[in-house]
Amino acid sequence: MTTQLEPRICVSVCEHDPASLAEAMKAAADVGDLIEVRGDCIDPDQAAAALESWQLLNKTGRPVILTYRPAEQGGHRQLDPRSRLRFWMFERPDTPDFYDIELSIVRNRSLFRFGKTMDWTRVICSHHNFSGLTSNLSAYVNRVYEGMRDTPARILKIAVQIDDAVDCLPFFSLLRRAREEGREIIAIAMGPAGIMTRILGPSQGAFLTYAALDEASATAPGQVSVKELRHVYRLHKIGPQTAITGLLGYPVLHSLSPHLHNAGFAETGVDAVYIPFEVKDTGSFLKRMVHPQSRELDLNFRGLSVTAPHKTGVIDHLDWIEPAAQEIGAVNTIVVEGTRLCGYNTDAVALVAPLVGELGDLRSRHCAIIGAGGAAAAAVWGLRAAGANITIFARDQEKAGVLAKRFQTDFASLDHARFEKFDVVINATPLGTVGPLCQETPVAGEQLHGAGLAYDLIYNPLETRFLSEARAAGCATLGGLPMLVEQAVAQFELWTNRPAPREAMLAAAERRLDS
Ligand code: NAP
Repeated sequence: MTTQLEPRICVSVCEHDPASLAEAMKAAADVGDLIEVRGDCIDPDQAAAALESWQLLNKTGRPVILTYRPAEQGGHRQLDPRSRLRFWMFERPDTPDFYDIELSIVRNRSLFRFGKTMDWTRVICSHHNFSGLTSNLSAYVNRVYEGMRDTPARILKIAVQIDDAVDCLPFFSLLRRAREEGREIIAIAMGPAGIMTRILGPSQGAFLTYAALDEASATAPGQVSVKELRHVYRLHKIGPQTAITGLLGYPVLHSLSPHLHNAGFAETGVDAVYIPFEVKDTGSFLKRMVHPQSRELDLNFRGLSVTAPHKTGVIDHLDWIEPAAQEIGAVNTIVVEGTRLCGYNTDAVALVAPLVGELGDLRSRHCAIIGAGGAAAAAVWGLRAAGANITIFARDQEKAGVLAKRFQTDFASLDHARFEKFDVVINATPLGTVGPLCQETPVAGEQLHGAGLAYDLIYNPLETRFLSEARAAGCATLGGLPMLVEQAVAQFELWTNRPAPREAMLAAAERRLDS
């Protein structure tokens, strides 16, 4: 077995014609440690010329992996087994450093006996499954591994689509097994839920990890760009002992949090990484992956942020909840403390801090909160603690009433509401957030005339319709980015017991929003 000192990033290129392939390979060689040339993407009429240009480019010094994958294994076109066999036996160029050949072809005895002589030390025997298995994934990946192990191929690769991050477990177990058996392996859980296998794989012994040239050109679901792997997740700094933190939610890929927290770790030199974990079943994820007393693998989890839809449900799976989070009824932060999982809420304090920055003392200020969900509950708790008078406005009167009763505040209907008596109006609904709701606002500008400050908890986009209409109506405005940074700062401090680099975290968030 080769001992891996540096994680290798392999950049996949999928281009149809020689000129584009040459260009993409040059770009890939600039940023990647290896280049995967997807032979199946090349237009068959231009294949010879394309492969020729690729051979020239191979002088860049980057090792090249050649694939010729059928559509059912994630390839670009329908390729029947006979044409694939013919390609690998007779037509394949000689210069690639590695050939990635599917298990079904490697198993074909013809490849051993006829055609060009195969150097098996250059073969990656691979298996891809995009169908999203639900039952006994562990048995499946082990069975495939055993089938591959019995071939003469040097490196084994298994990639299976998953849809809950807890299903990354069999892939890490397989990496461990292969390590113990002295085999070189690549084990990837595909899809957004599998991102942790791409980020942590090399530190757990994977032969390489794949990355996209840029965010637009991913060649497999869940693939991260090289730039993000290197500069956001800092792959080359991750070792087996690196503390693992991340975001528990569904979905999570849109989040800015990896940018903030990883920038914080980089700035302070803390040996930790922050990863998005797309999780459906929080109980199973926390028990099997994270909890020190029940986790199945020795992954060094330090803590988690929690986002929608798990802020309330996660409470049932924790050993201790701080009183404020209990009162709010939501946990947005988990800390692994000794052998326990402890829950905190950093949203409430983070929501109030920027407001105090703008207005000073909030005692006796009149605050309107629009919405009656999790963020509204944190807002009520935080503002009440700061001594403000609160009225909850929601489209669902019953929900507004329940929240108001819990915290003994006023509530009112959102229909035709007017806010001239309020010092602060807070949008705690998702209306205005990037995507289909982007052009929406919970209240029109004319309803805001006379209000003091409009505070939108949404941070993406920075300028929402709620804020622009409020400004036109003469209100001061405050966006959600300072709150996002403050709740992350408090999380960072809970996980690391040291001051967070607020400015570096804010700058990382702004850079990401700008891009
Ligand atoms: P949530 O628990 O789903 O609550 C959303 C609330 O908005 C509910 O009361 C919902 O009413 C209401 N709502 C949804 N669509 C509406 C509409 N068309 N008209 C009127 N009300 C509507 O979500 P959340 O966790 O509270 O988050 C709310 C927002 O705050 C999100 O955009 C989130 O990104 C933001 N947030 C920002 C930060 C930050 O750090 N800046 C932190 C937390 C949250 P129903 O119950 O009737 O559906």
